Amino acid sequence: MSLNQQKRLYQAERCLWGHGRDFASNQEVIEYLDSVVQSDWFVKRYGWVPPIRVEPMRSTKWAGCADRQGYVIYLKRRTENVVLHELAHLLNYSDQHDHSFVDIMLHLIRNAMGFYAWSEFMYELKREGYYDVI
Ligand SMILES: [Zn+2]
Repeated sequence: MSLNQQKRLYQAERCLWGHGRDFASNQEVIEYLDSVVQSDWFVKRYGWVPPIRVEPMRSTKWAGCADRQGYVIYLKRRTENVVLHELAHLLNYSDQHDHSFVDIMLHLIRNAMGFYAWSEFMYELKREGYYDVI
């Protein structure tokens, strides 16, 4: 993973801001995450996951972040794409925005946000050259 790759991913993710849900509270995010992690498509690939805590985030730089050890998602922006991005961090083996991370994120977006969000994100990843850098 390189910084360049992370930058290209963030650029590609911008297309997702027009898709998906906005959540009014952390409680709504928790209920949404419960429904995602209990879905058949989720359990089939990732199995059981511990309960995920959602906490507010004070950073002005980031929309969210994830603590893989504590299974906590910190959110400043409670949108579906940010929630799924942080969920992908919990599921990935490292803290990197590597190909494995993007593979998980594509799977989450395809199943939770639907075909159009997935195909637009896929298109943007290719257009930004995400797969051209390592
Ligand atoms: Zn990230």
